[in-house]
Amino acid sequence: MNLDEILHKENLSKEEIVFLLNLTDKNDQQFLFDRADEVRSKYCGNEVHLRGIIELSNYCEQNCIYCGLREDNKKLQRYRMTPEEIIETAHVISNLGIYTVVLQSGEDHQFDTAMIAYIIYEIKQKAELAVTLSLGERGFDEYRSWKMAGADRYLLKHETANPKLYSIYHNKQRLDDRLAHLKFLKEIGYQIGSGNMIGLPLQTVEDIADDILFCKELDLDMAAFGPFISSPETPYRSKSAGDVDLTLRVMAVGRIVLKQVHIPATTALATLDDAGRIKGLNVGANIIMPDLTPSPYRERYQIYPDRKCINDNPLNCKGCLQLQIESIGRKISNSRGDSMKIGEHSRA
Ligand code: SAM
Ligand code: SF4
Repeated sequence: MNLDEILHKENLSKEEIVFLLNLTDKNDQQFLFDRADEVRSKYCGNEVHLRGIIELSNYCEQNCIYCGLREDNKKLQRYRMTPEEIIETAHVISNLGIYTVVLQSGEDHQFDTAMIAYIIYEIKQKAELAVTLSLGERGFDEYRSWKMAGADRYLLKHETANPKLYSIYHNKQRLDDRLAHLKFLKEIGYQIGSGNMIGLPLQTVEDIADDILFCKELDLDMAAFGPFISSPETPYRSKSAGDVDLTLRVMAVGRIVLKQVHIPATTALATLDDAGRIKGLNVGANIIMPDLTPSPYRERYQIYPDRKCINDNPLNCKGCLQLQIESIGRKISNSRGDSMKIGEHSRA
Protein backbone atom coordinates (compact mmCIF):
# COMPACT_ATOMS: atom_id res chain seq x y z
CA MET A 1 0.00 0.00 0.00
CA ASN A 2 1.15 3.54 -0.72
CA LEU A 3 1.38 5.46 2.56
CA ASP A 4 1.05 8.97 1.13
CA GLU A 5 -2.00 7.99 -0.92
CA ILE A 6 -3.73 6.41 2.09
CA LEU A 7 -3.01 9.42 4.29
CA HIS A 8 -4.79 11.69 1.81
CA LYS A 9 -7.84 9.52 1.13
CA GLU A 10 -11.25 10.87 2.16
CA ASN A 11 -12.44 7.55 3.60
CA LEU A 12 -10.28 4.73 4.91
CA SER A 13 -11.17 1.03 4.83
CA LYS A 14 -10.56 -1.22 7.84
CA GLU A 15 -7.54 -2.76 6.04
CA GLU A 16 -6.03 0.69 5.47
CA ILE A 17 -6.57 1.63 9.12
CA VAL A 18 -4.89 -1.60 10.24
CA PHE A 19 -1.98 -0.83 7.89
CA LEU A 20 -1.53 2.60 9.51
CA LEU A 21 -1.85 1.25 13.04
CA ASN A 22 0.88 -1.29 12.27
CA LEU A 23 3.43 1.28 11.03
CA THR A 24 6.58 0.83 13.07
CA ASP A 25 9.23 2.42 10.85
CA LYS A 26 10.03 5.76 12.55
CA ASN A 27 9.88 7.79 9.32
CA ASP A 28 6.56 6.26 8.27
CA GLN A 29 5.16 6.87 11.74
CA GLN A 30 6.28 10.50 11.58
CA PHE A 31 4.50 10.90 8.19
CA LEU A 32 1.33 9.64 9.85
CA PHE A 33 1.76 12.02 12.81
CA ASP A 34 2.47 15.01 10.55
CA ARG A 35 -0.60 14.30 8.44
CA ALA A 36 -2.77 14.00 11.58
CA ASP A 37 -1.39 17.33 12.83
CA GLU A 38 -2.25 18.92 9.47
CA VAL A 39 -5.83 17.56 9.64
CA ARG A 40 -6.13 18.81 13.24
CA SER A 41 -4.96 22.25 12.20
CA LYS A 42 -7.42 22.36 9.28
CA TYR A 43 -10.49 21.28 11.28
CA CYS A 44 -9.75 22.52 14.83
CA GLY A 45 -7.25 25.34 14.41
CA ASN A 46 -4.54 26.00 16.98
CA GLU A 47 -6.61 26.26 20.12
CA VAL A 48 -6.54 23.71 22.90
CA HIS A 49 -9.68 23.40 25.02
CA LEU A 50 -9.42 22.57 28.71
CA ARG A 51 -12.11 20.49 30.42
CA GLY A 52 -11.80 20.55 34.22
CA ILE A 53 -12.79 17.24 35.82
CA ILE A 54 -14.50 16.97 39.22
CA GLU A 55 -14.53 13.37 40.46
CA LEU A 56 -17.55 13.62 42.66
CA SER A 57 -17.70 10.01 43.93
CA ASN A 58 -15.52 6.92 43.70
CA TYR A 59 -18.34 4.56 44.67
CA CYS A 60 -19.26 2.27 41.80
CA GLU A 61 -21.90 -0.42 41.35
CA GLN A 62 -20.09 -1.89 38.34
CA ASN A 63 -17.20 -4.30 38.18
CA CYS A 64 -15.34 -3.42 34.98
CA ILE A 65 -12.43 -5.84 35.02
CA TYR A 66 -9.76 -3.19 34.36
CA CYS A 67 -10.83 -0.42 36.75
CA GLY A 68 -9.61 0.30 40.28
CA LEU A 69 -12.99 1.78 41.25
CA ARG A 70 -14.80 -1.55 40.62
CA GLU A 71 -17.25 -2.58 43.32
CA ASP A 72 -15.22 -5.64 44.33
CA ASN A 73 -12.22 -3.51 45.27
CA LYS A 74 -12.80 -3.50 49.01
CA LYS A 75 -9.44 -1.88 49.75
CA LEU A 76 -10.32 1.47 48.19
CA GLN A 77 -11.28 4.20 50.63
CA ARG A 78 -14.56 5.43 49.17
CA TYR A 79 -15.84 9.03 49.24
CA ARG A 80 -18.65 11.21 48.04
CA MET A 81 -18.27 14.97 47.69
CA THR A 82 -21.20 17.01 48.98
CA PRO A 83 -23.30 18.93 46.43
CA GLU A 84 -21.98 22.17 47.97
CA GLU A 85 -18.36 21.06 47.52
CA ILE A 86 -19.04 20.13 43.90
CA ILE A 87 -20.75 23.44 43.10
CA GLU A 88 -17.96 25.36 44.86
CA THR A 89 -15.28 23.45 42.89
CA ALA A 90 -17.10 24.24 39.64
CA HIS A 91 -16.94 27.88 40.65
CA VAL A 92 -13.20 27.66 41.27
CA ILE A 93 -12.78 26.06 37.83
CA SER A 94 -14.75 28.85 36.21
CA ASN A 95 -12.61 31.45 38.02
CA LEU A 96 -9.49 29.77 36.61
CA GLY A 97 -10.80 30.62 33.13
CA ILE A 98 -11.76 27.06 32.22
CA TYR A 99 -15.11 26.89 30.44
CA THR A 100 -16.12 23.24 30.75
CA VAL A 101 -16.62 21.25 33.89
CA VAL A 102 -16.84 17.45 33.69
CA LEU A 103 -18.79 15.80 36.51
CA GLN A 104 -17.38 12.30 36.71
CA SER A 105 -17.93 9.34 39.05
CA GLY A 106 -18.40 5.61 39.29
CA GLU A 107 -21.94 4.43 38.71
CA ASP A 108 -23.32 5.67 42.00
CA HIS A 109 -27.09 5.88 42.39
CA GLN A 110 -26.73 7.60 45.78
CA PHE A 111 -26.28 10.61 43.52
CA ASP A 112 -29.87 10.34 42.37
CA THR A 113 -31.70 12.12 39.55
CA ALA A 114 -32.74 15.10 41.65
CA MET A 115 -29.35 15.61 43.31
CA ILE A 116 -27.44 15.61 40.01
CA ALA A 117 -30.10 17.90 38.46
CA TYR A 118 -29.72 20.29 41.39
CA ILE A 119 -25.93 20.35 41.04
CA ILE A 120 -26.11 21.02 37.29
CA TYR A 121 -28.71 23.74 37.76
CA GLU A 122 -26.74 25.49 40.49
CA ILE A 123 -23.48 25.35 38.49
CA LYS A 124 -25.19 26.79 35.42
CA GLN A 125 -26.87 29.54 37.46
CA LYS A 126 -23.61 30.75 38.93
CA ALA A 127 -21.12 30.40 36.09
CA GLU A 128 -20.79 30.48 32.31
CA LEU A 129 -19.74 26.87 32.02
CA ALA A 130 -20.52 23.96 29.76
CA VAL A 131 -21.37 20.90 31.85
CA THR A 132 -20.30 17.44 30.73
CA LEU A 133 -21.58 14.40 32.60
CA SER A 134 -19.53 11.20 32.89
CA LEU A 135 -21.55 9.17 35.36
CA GLY A 136 -21.70 5.83 33.55
CA GLU A 137 -24.87 4.17 32.28
CA ARG A 138 -27.88 5.75 33.95
CA GLY A 139 -31.64 5.76 33.24
CA PHE A 140 -33.01 7.36 30.08
CA ASP A 141 -35.36 9.49 32.24
CA GLU A 142 -32.34 10.66 34.21
CA TYR A 143 -30.53 11.72 31.03
CA ARG A 144 -33.64 13.70 30.09
CA SER A 145 -33.94 15.40 33.50
CA TRP A 146 -30.27 16.36 33.51
CA LYS A 147 -30.55 17.78 30.01
CA MET A 148 -33.47 19.91 31.19
CA ALA A 149 -31.40 21.03 34.19
CA GLY A 150 -28.78 22.37 31.77
CA ALA A 151 -26.27 19.58 31.03
CA ASP A 152 -24.59 20.01 27.65
CA ARG A 153 -22.55 16.87 26.99
CA TYR A 154 -22.27 13.24 28.02
CA LEU A 155 -19.08 11.18 27.97
CA LEU A 156 -19.58 7.41 27.89
CA LYS A 157 -16.74 5.44 26.36
CA HIS A 158 -17.64 2.27 24.47
CA GLU A 159 -14.26 0.87 25.67
CA THR A 160 -14.21 -1.80 22.92
CA ALA A 161 -16.43 -2.35 19.89
CA ASN A 162 -15.82 -6.11 20.00
CA PRO A 163 -18.94 -7.59 21.70
CA LYS A 164 -17.07 -10.69 22.93
CA LEU A 165 -14.32 -8.62 24.55
CA TYR A 166 -16.93 -6.22 25.90
CA SER A 167 -18.67 -9.05 27.75
CA ILE A 168 -15.33 -10.30 29.13
CA TYR A 169 -14.45 -6.85 30.47
CA HIS A 170 -17.95 -6.05 31.80
CA ASN A 171 -19.81 -9.07 33.07
CA LYS A 172 -23.04 -7.20 33.90
CA GLN A 173 -23.15 -4.87 30.88
CA ARG A 174 -23.67 -5.33 27.13
CA LEU A 175 -22.21 -3.44 24.19
CA ASP A 176 -25.68 -3.14 22.61
CA ASP A 177 -26.93 -1.29 25.69
CA ARG A 178 -24.00 1.11 25.63
CA LEU A 179 -24.72 1.85 21.98
CA ALA A 180 -28.42 2.40 22.75
CA HIS A 181 -27.50 4.83 25.56
CA LEU A 182 -25.16 6.80 23.30
CA LYS A 183 -27.78 7.00 20.54
CA PHE A 184 -30.45 8.14 23.00
CA LEU A 185 -28.16 10.80 24.48
CA LYS A 186 -27.48 12.14 21.02
CA GLU A 187 -31.16 12.06 20.07
CA ILE A 188 -32.16 14.23 23.03
CA GLY A 189 -29.53 16.84 22.23
CA TYR A 190 -26.41 16.01 24.23
CA GLN A 191 -23.07 16.46 22.55
CA ILE A 192 -21.66 12.98 22.95
CA GLY A 193 -18.19 11.69 23.68
CA SER A 194 -17.09 8.08 23.53
CA GLY A 195 -13.91 6.14 22.74
CA ASN A 196 -11.87 3.15 23.75
CA MET A 197 -8.87 1.90 25.62
CA ILE A 198 -5.70 0.79 23.85
CA GLY A 199 -3.81 -2.32 24.96
CA LEU A 200 -6.47 -4.14 26.94
CA PRO A 201 -5.69 -7.86 27.28
CA LEU A 202 -6.89 -9.97 24.30
CA GLN A 203 -7.38 -6.88 22.09
CA THR A 204 -5.95 -6.97 18.53
CA VAL A 205 -5.05 -4.15 16.13
CA GLU A 206 -8.09 -5.22 14.07
CA ASP A 207 -10.27 -4.58 17.13
CA ILE A 208 -8.81 -1.08 17.44
CA ALA A 209 -9.52 -0.42 13.76
CA ASP A 210 -13.14 -1.41 14.47
CA ASP A 211 -13.14 0.98 17.43
CA ILE A 212 -12.17 3.89 15.20
CA LEU A 213 -14.83 2.96 12.65
CA PHE A 214 -17.36 2.58 15.49
CA CYS A 215 -16.56 6.17 16.59
CA LYS A 216 -17.18 7.31 13.02
CA GLU A 217 -20.51 5.52 12.85
CA LEU A 218 -21.58 7.12 16.14
CA ASP A 219 -20.85 10.55 14.67
CA LEU A 220 -19.24 11.62 17.93
CA ASP A 221 -18.48 15.14 19.08
CA MET A 222 -15.52 13.87 21.12
CA ALA A 223 -13.50 10.66 20.77
CA ALA A 224 -11.05 9.60 23.49
CA PHE A 225 -8.34 7.02 22.86
CA GLY A 226 -6.35 6.27 26.02
CA PRO A 227 -3.95 3.49 26.99
CA PHE A 228 -4.93 0.79 29.47
CA ILE A 229 -2.91 0.92 32.72
CA SER A 230 -3.03 -2.04 35.08
CA SER A 231 -4.53 -1.42 38.49
CA PRO A 232 -3.43 -3.47 41.54
CA GLU A 233 -6.80 -4.48 43.04
CA THR A 234 -8.25 -5.81 39.76
CA PRO A 235 -8.08 -9.15 37.91
CA TYR A 236 -5.80 -7.42 35.37
CA ARG A 237 -3.26 -6.38 38.03
CA SER A 238 -0.36 -8.15 36.31
CA LYS A 239 -1.16 -7.21 32.69
CA SER A 240 1.09 -4.89 30.69
CA ALA A 241 0.03 -1.33 29.99
CA GLY A 242 -0.98 -0.18 26.49
CA ASP A 243 1.88 0.86 24.23
CA VAL A 244 2.50 4.63 24.03
CA ASP A 245 3.47 4.64 20.34
CA LEU A 246 0.47 2.52 19.39
CA THR A 247 -1.77 4.91 21.37
CA LEU A 248 -0.28 7.86 19.45
CA ARG A 249 -0.90 6.07 16.14
CA VAL A 250 -4.52 5.39 17.16
CA MET A 251 -5.01 9.08 18.00
CA ALA A 252 -3.44 10.11 14.69
CA VAL A 253 -5.55 7.70 12.65
CA GLY A 254 -8.58 8.73 14.71
CA ARG A 255 -7.97 12.36 13.73
CA ILE A 256 -7.55 11.49 10.03
CA VAL A 257 -10.69 9.34 9.95
CA LEU A 258 -12.96 11.41 12.23
CA LYS A 259 -11.71 14.88 11.20
CA GLN A 260 -14.08 17.39 12.85
CA VAL A 261 -14.13 15.88 16.32
CA HIS A 262 -12.57 16.80 19.67
CA ILE A 263 -9.77 14.41 20.68
CA PRO A 264 -8.13 14.62 24.13
CA ALA A 265 -4.51 13.96 25.00
CA THR A 266 -5.48 11.73 27.93
CA THR A 267 -4.18 11.70 31.49
CA ALA A 268 -3.49 7.96 31.06
CA LEU A 269 -1.11 8.77 28.18
CA ALA A 270 0.62 11.44 30.31
CA THR A 271 0.87 8.92 33.16
CA LEU A 272 2.78 6.46 30.96
CA ASP A 273 4.96 9.11 29.32
CA ASP A 274 5.89 12.43 30.96
CA ALA A 275 5.72 14.12 27.56
CA GLY A 276 2.45 12.35 26.73
CA ARG A 277 0.30 15.47 26.65
CA ILE A 278 2.59 17.27 24.20
CA LYS A 279 3.04 14.15 22.10
CA GLY A 280 -0.74 13.76 22.00
CA LEU A 281 -1.28 17.39 20.99
CA ASN A 282 1.24 16.88 18.18
CA VAL A 283 -0.60 13.88 16.68
CA GLY A 284 -4.14 15.22 16.43
CA ALA A 285 -5.35 16.04 19.94
CA ASN A 286 -6.96 19.41 20.74
CA ILE A 287 -8.28 18.82 24.27
CA ILE A 288 -6.76 18.37 27.73
CA MET A 289 -8.87 17.24 30.67
CA PRO A 290 -7.05 18.14 33.90
CA ASP A 291 -8.23 16.61 37.14
CA LEU A 292 -9.34 19.52 39.33
CA THR A 293 -10.90 17.47 42.12
CA PRO A 294 -9.82 18.93 45.47
CA SER A 295 -7.82 16.99 48.06
CA PRO A 296 -8.35 14.69 49.90
CA TYR A 297 -10.65 13.21 47.26
CA ARG A 298 -8.36 13.31 44.18
CA GLU A 299 -5.87 10.88 45.74
CA ARG A 300 -8.66 8.35 46.31
CA TYR A 301 -9.98 8.32 42.74
CA GLN A 302 -7.62 5.47 41.91
CA ILE A 303 -8.72 4.15 38.54
CA TYR A 304 -5.07 3.11 38.16
CA PRO A 305 -2.00 4.04 40.26
CA ASP A 306 0.26 7.12 40.03
CA ARG A 307 -2.01 9.23 37.85
CA LYS A 308 -0.22 12.19 36.30
CA CYS A 309 -0.32 15.36 38.45
CA ILE A 310 -2.21 13.63 41.27
CA ASN A 311 -0.07 15.31 43.94
CA ASP A 312 -0.15 18.77 42.33
CA ASN A 313 -2.26 21.68 43.48
CA PRO A 314 -5.22 21.99 41.05
CA LEU A 315 -4.98 25.78 41.32
CA ASN A 316 -1.57 25.70 39.60
CA CYS A 317 -2.76 23.41 36.85
CA LYS A 318 -3.82 25.92 34.23
CA GLY A 319 -0.54 27.87 34.41
CA CYS A 320 1.48 24.67 34.04
CA LEU A 321 -0.59 23.49 31.06
CA GLN A 322 -0.38 26.94 29.48
CA LEU A 323 3.42 26.81 29.48
CA GLN A 324 3.41 23.38 27.86
CA ILE A 325 0.80 24.30 25.27
CA GLU A 326 2.51 27.57 24.32
CA SER A 327 5.86 25.78 24.01
CA ILE A 328 4.52 24.06 20.87
CA GLY A 329 2.99 27.22 19.38
CA ARG A 330 -0.58 26.48 20.44
CA LYS A 331 -2.84 28.40 22.80
CA ILE A 332 -5.52 27.76 25.37
CA SER A 333 -8.98 28.58 24.06
CA ASN A 334 -11.20 31.17 25.70
CA SER A 335 -14.37 29.49 24.47
CA ARG A 336 -16.40 26.53 25.72
CA GLY A 337 -15.18 24.40 22.86
CA ASP A 338 -18.57 23.04 21.92
CA SER A 339 -19.03 20.39 19.25
CA MET A 340 -17.50 21.33 15.93
CA LYS A 341 -20.53 19.71 14.31
CA ILE A 342 -23.02 22.24 15.67
CA GLY A 343 -25.26 23.24 12.85
CA GLU A 344 -24.95 19.74 11.41
CA HIS A 345 -27.03 18.36 14.29
CA SER A 346 -28.82 19.61 17.38
CA ARG A 347 -26.98 21.12 20.33
CA ALA A 348 -27.58 22.32 23.82
N1 SAM B 1 -17.94 5.36 35.58
C1 SAM B 1 -17.92 6.15 34.41
C2 SAM B 1 -17.70 5.32 33.17
O1 SAM B 1 -17.28 4.19 33.30
O2 SAM B 1 -17.99 5.84 32.10
C3 SAM B 1 -16.90 7.26 34.46
C4 SAM B 1 -15.67 7.01 35.28
S1 SAM B 1 -14.56 5.81 34.58
C5 SAM B 1 -13.34 5.69 35.81
C6 SAM B 1 -13.79 6.78 33.27
C7 SAM B 1 -12.95 6.01 32.30
O3 SAM B 1 -11.80 5.49 32.96
C8 SAM B 1 -13.57 4.78 31.65
O4 SAM B 1 -14.36 5.14 30.56
C9 SAM B 1 -12.33 3.97 31.24
O5 SAM B 1 -12.05 4.11 29.86
C10 SAM B 1 -11.20 4.60 32.05
N2 SAM B 1 -10.46 3.56 32.79
C11 SAM B 1 -10.92 2.74 33.74
N3 SAM B 1 -9.95 1.90 34.15
C12 SAM B 1 -8.85 2.19 33.43
C13 SAM B 1 -7.53 1.65 33.37
N4 SAM B 1 -7.16 0.65 34.16
N5 SAM B 1 -6.64 2.20 32.50
C14 SAM B 1 -7.00 3.24 31.72
N6 SAM B 1 -8.24 3.79 31.72
C15 SAM B 1 -9.16 3.27 32.57
FE1 SF4 C 1 -17.18 1.89 37.52
FE2 SF4 C 1 -16.61 3.42 35.38
FE3 SF4 C 1 -14.70 2.04 36.69
FE4 SF4 C 1 -16.49 0.71 35.27
S1 SF4 C 1 -14.97 2.20 34.46
S2 SF4 C 1 -15.80 0.19 37.34
S3 SF4 C 1 -18.31 1.94 35.58
S4 SF4 C 1 -15.89 3.73 37.48
